[in-house]
Amino acid sequence: MRLGENFSWLLCRMITFEDFNIKKQLKNAIADLGFEKPTPIQQESYSTILSGTDFVGIAQTGTGKTIAYLLPILQDLKYSNQPNPRVLILAPTRELVIQIVEQIEKLTPYINVRVAGVYGGSTNINAQKKAVAEGIDIIVGTPRRLYDLTLSNTLRLKSIKKLIIDEVDIMLDFGYKTQLKNIFELIPTKRQNILFSATMTTYVDELIDDFLINPVKKTISISGTPLDTISQECYAVPNFYTKANLLNYLLADKEEYNKVLIFVATKVNADRLAETLEFGSEVSVIHSSKEQNHRTNSIENFENGTSRILIATDVIARGIDIEKISTVISFDTPFYPENYIHRIGRTGRAGELGKAILFYTEKEEPLKEEIEALMKYVIPFNELPEEVEVARQLTPEEKDKPKEISEIQHKKRTIEVGPSFHEKSAKNSKEKVERKSYKQQLKERYKKPIRRGDKIQNMKKKRK
Ligand code: AMP
Repeated sequence: MRLGENFSWLLCRMITFEDFNIKKQLKNAIADLGFEKPTPIQQESYSTILSGTDFVGIAQTGTGKTIAYLLPILQDLKYSNQPNPRVLILAPTRELVIQIVEQIEKLTPYINVRVAGVYGGSTNINAQKKAVAEGIDIIVGTPRRLYDLTLSNTLRLKSIKKLIIDEVDIMLDFGYKTQLKNIFELIPTKRQNILFSATMTTYVDELIDDFLINPVKKTISISGTPLDTISQECYAVPNFYTKANLLNYLLADKEEYNKVLIFVATKVNADRLAETLEFGSEVSVIHSSKEQNHRTNSIENFENGTSRILIATDVIARGIDIEKISTVISFDTPFYPENYIHRIGRTGRAGELGKAILFYTEKEEPLKEEIEALMKYVIPFNELPEEVEVARQLTPEEKDKPKEISEIQHKKRTIEVGPSFHEKSAKNSKEKVERKSYKQQLKERYKKPIRRGDKIQNMKKKRK
């Protein structure tokens, strides 16, 4: 199997735009843009999208994902002077709509394609109505504004043949699911669906299950991650509150942990952890249910050093571009292994050395193994320090005993992993450390009595 994968990677590496079956006008536009060869996501998606199959691409901004879907769509789009659009591209933000429209314009100086971008905010809806009424081939928009235009009868979606949803994870995290469903009701059921998302989330999975037909899925997850500038380690920890104790213990070292981004699985865990940490105003928390003002302040405080610790969920952390993060801590093991790669890519940037720490419970151990398989690297294991109190208290979710992760995993492991921009360093792929099962690790650890001593004493001991 490994041989096959490597071989497909080699093939991908050799592909150029000349190998794509694209019309001269598009080729010339690409040449004008100075692009020498397609990026991995472009190589992986072109022929599949062109064939009309439903498609899911897991790729971050910066991988060339916009052109990955635009090229086959523009290749397929025939000239027409009919007024109603045939291609609908949905994006979560006004900025992304503008970027997509710009990329379409750059690709079409030699083709007659009519495009309009529609989005809300302070923008005048009448100007957008006028642009739509003049007749368009491709409409790009945020869901709410787009839906408003259909309600006012300016925009008719009955001729849509291709639906593209870009940054689906953000879209769903912003609570656009109802708007999306409303829009789906207005477009023909016989259509091609193309989704792009930087991270997989349960919501994205649900949307795929509900609306796509046997989609081909490709993951371009390791785009340029400088794994060799990030040292990684992990701890086996039995539950939430023990994880919080471990975090309190580690973060007491303010020099080592001077700018720490902590990832949690849910908004509930984000708030709960913020309350449990012992560092007062040094801790900020962001997730999509927090007000925009709160989010902006949290990020600013973290950036300028007012707060040392930022707790975030995967999707919300995407929009943050903060430099010099000393450590990324995965408090919860991510459900989708590629999200771990995105997380740790936040540290070790621009030649700086970074550190990534993963906490995992017994239930999360299969997820950790998935991550290691993806990276072809076993994360070095640390013993839980003696000073860390093993908590007996459980969160309501832990008491509920949710479904075994391995069960859910079994259903979801359908995504193919595509090639990355850069191959992992030889150092990382060769380095092997002894793998111990979670049970073995706990057994070894619990030979000693569980310490439930005074937490403050423990902290003092650590600081000495
Ligand atoms: P995106 O991931 O779509 O946000 O694209 C990121 C940037 O990569 C954009 O500025 C694109 O113009 C650029 N780009 C897209 N495809 C290529 C390519 N094949 N070669 C070089 N740059 C590209």
